[in-house]
Amino acid sequence: MRYEGNKKNHAGGNIAVSGAGGHWAVYCGKSAAGRNFAQRHPAFGIDFDRALVCADLCHTEMAEQKEVRIKEGFPMNDSVRKMLEYNRIFVDHEMYQRYETTKYPDRKIAILSCMDTRMTELLPAALGIKNGDVKLIKNAGGQITHPYGSVIFSLLVAVYELGVDTILVIGHDDCGGRALDAKKMIAKMEEKGISRDVIDHVDANHKNLEQWLTGFGDICASVQNTVDTIRNHPLIHKDVEVYGFVMDPHTGAMREVK
Ligand SMILES: [Zn+2]
Repeated sequence: MRYEGNKKNHAGGNIAVSGAGGHWAVYCGKSAAGRNFAQRHPAFGIDFDRALVCADLCHTEMAEQKEVRIKEGFPMNDSVRKMLEYNRIFVDHEMYQRYETTKYPDRKIAILSCMDTRMTELLPAALGIKNGDVKLIKNAGGQITHPYGSVIFSLLVAVYELGVDTILVIGHDDCGGRALDAKKMIAKMEEKGISRDVIDHVDANHKNLEQWLTGFGDICASVQNTVDTIRNHPLIHKDVEVYGFVMDPHTGAMREVK
């Protein structure tokens, strides 16, 4: 097995993945140099059995490097194993047939919503959406935190390539993203072995962590802010209709944010 890939990550850097003989190396960097670095980096060439993770190749002297042994037959946790077992049954019994559709959304709608598990099935059910009806984009809080990030990219593809003419932003009550405590999350990172040096490095060079990891507060204000970001985006044309809503995560009831 061999795979080489290179894709953008959320911080605007590159993540590159390559592997040989079923073993993987993963590294990331703010500038493109992922693959070149891998060829130069001594630890990479020596042992393909190891995956090398660099926190930031732009600052290799500061990078926290971890070696993670990923062997073929790496023990898979039960949750994933059960999913894959079910998947085999699903495919073998052609249970996919009822879901077949095209990539073009029949209702010409894109929905940006929260990843909250209470709405995984509730949101489509409450809106009468079936497979093929809409483009569904999800993240924590259903927010747009960067006007040229992955959410806007998804919306541009939806609008210009897939025929979307209407965008719904759907937040929800009791959202876990509202009242995050950045200090507590950073403490949890440290408990799990992320070093203070790495945290300080990210804080100094990439993101103000306390600001980034703090909850967004009022859900209506957050939805309105996201709606405004889309409506005022220079690459979203003015015929695209944008609406904001808050959903009750228990009943599925929607109320419009104006
Ligand atoms: Zn939420």
